[in-house]
Amino acid sequence: MDKPLSLATDTTELLGRLGVDAALIKGGNRAVTSPTDGSEIARVHDNSEAEVKAAITAARKASLEWRDVPAPQRGELVRLFGEELRAAKDDLGRLVSIEVGKVPSEGLGEVQEMIDICDFAVGLSRQLYGLTIATERPGHRMMETWHPLGVVGVISAFNFPVAVWSWNTALAIVCGNAVVWKPSEKTPLTALACQAIFEKAAKRFGGVPKGLLDVVIGDRAVGEIMVDSPDVALVSATGSTRMGREVGPRLAQRFARSILELGGNNAGIVCPSADIDMTLNAVAFGAMGTCGQRCTSLRRLIVHEDVYDALLPKLRAAYESVSIGNPLTSDALVGPLIDRDAFENMEKALAASREMGAKVTGGGQVDVDNGGEGYYVRPAIVELDEQAGPMLQETFAPILYVVKYRDFEDAMAMHNAVGAGLSSSIFTLNMREAELFTSDSGSDCGIANVNIGTSGAEIGGAFGGEKETGGGRESGSDAWKGYMRRQTNTINYSTELPLAQGVSFDLG
Ligand code: NAD
Repeated sequence: MDKPLSLATDTTELLGRLGVDAALIKGGNRAVTSPTDGSEIARVHDNSEAEVKAAITAARKASLEWRDVPAPQRGELVRLFGEELRAAKDDLGRLVSIEVGKVPSEGLGEVQEMIDICDFAVGLSRQLYGLTIATERPGHRMMETWHPLGVVGVISAFNFPVAVWSWNTALAIVCGNAVVWKPSEKTPLTALACQAIFEKAAKRFGGVPKGLLDVVIGDRAVGEIMVDSPDVALVSATGSTRMGREVGPRLAQRFARSILELGGNNAGIVCPSADIDMTLNAVAFGAMGTCGQRCTSLRRLIVHEDVYDALLPKLRAAYESVSIGNPLTSDALVGPLIDRDAFENMEKALAASREMGAKVTGGGQVDVDNGGEGYYVRPAIVELDEQAGPMLQETFAPILYVVKYRDFEDAMAMHNAVGAGLSSSIFTLNMREAELFTSDSGSDCGIANVNIGTSGAEIGGAFGGEKETGGGRESGSDAWKGYMRRQTNTINYSTELPLAQGVSFDLG
């Protein structure tokens, strides 16, 4: 891969090809920098409070028209969007790498996830099924129908700048809603690109109501306007548990719907029968991939004492040799952290671990010689005697805490003894352990895997987690129900008016 002469020029050209209006990325108040080398690549304009409110009002109007379009036709718009994404995959994937620092295969993988959810949503547009329910009254029919909510507000995190939004949007649109999206303030460019791509699909569709999909740029203040607006029926917010603690109660205050997708502190249990080489690869990708910046990144490893010495030396060697570099100019497997704050948080967690007497392998900044700044770090393994201190919290960086266990029950107890409940794995060839892990008394997470890592979910399953991860579900399975309101209809086609439960109210 050739190093671009100027990343800003490269980015401007890329955004132009993707259809983004040049005026949107020049001369604004907010500097956008690339974590790959710390350089400024664009300046975007934050939306004012009045502009955000106007976008919500327009979305509300659009939703009133859109809800009357039959669902399979709404699916046609999403089908066209999927086609446009296929055409834009290389450019949008590269933009993800520039704006977030993901290695090329992960940038492209994110766009593939968008394409996959579009395909899923197109099928879904003919399957928004309700139930027919037996009624106790003669000459009556009872059924369940599903209806659009209105405006869906999407607040997204920096680390999946486009995929998570597309999970929400593809479903929200086929379900008959309008969408207002506030991307992370760290990733406005990919959001503007997605909007431009969506507009191409809308044009081919023959036009859509104005305001059906809009992007509003800014920091949390913009998100708060969406959270507090009575015109936003559902807010789907992805980010830290800290953000969820602020957003959740505000939405509850006005009885609004919410889908909260918050932090994770994901663990894997390595049992005596584990296939060690397979475990090694799964742990390496789960813990070091995306530089530890996935909500599902593997952060805790609970290893049986009999296989500790078979696994740990191989793992330490993998950590010491993994390639770290600029994802735009090298074939490295690990790119940069998003910014200085992320680096400082990693350093603090490692310092706290050392104070506890932990054995630390790796950590610290790596000079990748790319002429810029960028926070490139060596992923770290922290071996502890017990699960304590920083191991109990999510640090959004490539730190893998490792502890030993002897009894499976203790491993399970340790596994579930943290606040977050997103993703989990067990590595075992023992059927009893595998079944127990995925049973009622096993993992308390939204995702529980056997012999694969904690990260890299497919769109077909419902995605989300329990406890401090917020309880929301997005993407596949029946997650679409979160974007609609359920109605129970009872229809009397008889000549009598029997009351339920045998109640009589005879006016004589
Ligand atoms: P963040 O919480 O700092 O920001 C996320 C988004 O919320 C941003 O758009 C931000 O502007 C907005 N925001 C923050 N405070 C707000 C408020 N009070 N009101 C309205 N909006 C507000 O998170 P981040 O650093 O961008 O992302 C990393 C975090 O996201 C990690 O904790 C990670 O685990 C989590 N995450 C979770 C999932 C999931 O599906 N569970 C997916 C991706 C990331």
